[in-house]
Amino acid sequence: MRFAILAAAAICLAIPALAADAERPPLPPGTSYVREGSEFAVTQIRPALFALSEPDYYQHNVSYVIVGEDRALVIDAGASTTEDITRAVRRLTDKPFAVIPTHLHYDHIGSIHHFQEVWMIDVPATRELVRKDGFTYVPPDRHIATAAEFAATPFKVSRYIKPGETIDLGDRPVQILFTPGHTRDEIVIYSPLDNILFTGDFIYPAGLFSGNAKDYLASADKVLATINSDTKIYGAHPGPAKDGVRDLPLVTHDELLKARETFQRMAKGAAPDETISNPSPTGSFKMTAAKVYRSSPRIRVFGDIAFADRGQLRYETK
Ligand SMILES: [Zn+2]
Repeated sequence: MRFAILAAAAICLAIPALAADAERPPLPPGTSYVREGSEFAVTQIRPALFALSEPDYYQHNVSYVIVGEDRALVIDAGASTTEDITRAVRRLTDKPFAVIPTHLHYDHIGSIHHFQEVWMIDVPATRELVRKDGFTYVPPDRHIATAAEFAATPFKVSRYIKPGETIDLGDRPVQILFTPGHTRDEIVIYSPLDNILFTGDFIYPAGLFSGNAKDYLASADKVLATINSDTKIYGAHPGPAKDGVRDLPLVTHDELLKARETFQRMAKGAAPDETISNPSPTGSFKMTAAKVYRSSPRIRVFGDIAFADRGQLRYETK
């Protein structure tokens, strides 16, 4: 069986050389790889709810799958550009499924062109990316990858979702909230039945990147008016590993309240707690400049960010 899998991988150029399992990061209890050699690990959160994480990827992205009676919704299209996430999804459900990206940064749209159904928030920031041929193309200043990391493949949007719209997956409604701040196209998804909020990069238990603090503040108010103190909040990037293991990126309601206070400080132009000014940066993101605001023990917010290799992460509110 092992030979058969390796032989299949060898003739499928989309799958790179397999890392030995011993070299891979340990997974939280209850998590397993979709299959041997896959980049995607799966955790079943509830009977109809799965996390698809990428433990080998440097940002450790987590996408989610909600399965309704009629259809499934995949939240984010993964970071991998070498493995098609839809194959991993197909192993979790036989229902038809669509994907909705929480935003259009490169690490959330890796497989988006592989989906037959792509849903998208209906706002000017997404409509402006539709070309004359009807395909959506995310340019480098919007996906912010370096050329070596990612080359955007155009894709077709099959359904635009109005901000605040609720869609029924079949006995499982999900509400799509438009929550700009990290980017101009950011959304979060609320499942009232599960009382779970999926937040993409709006909030997760590590450093947050603000593109516009005023938008971020207004979005935090919108989210807080929708959820309650018992809502489970799942982001797209986990915090640092503990004892070598990275848990799913769960955020507390209190951390969201504290983040809201931080966005408010930033929006008012308060002085940062630290300033990054680094002409020769190293590390994953190569930040040359940023204002850093401490929010809560696990979360800091970076504003006015400039990168050595991918321009700036900030935008004006129109
Ligand atoms: Zn991200």
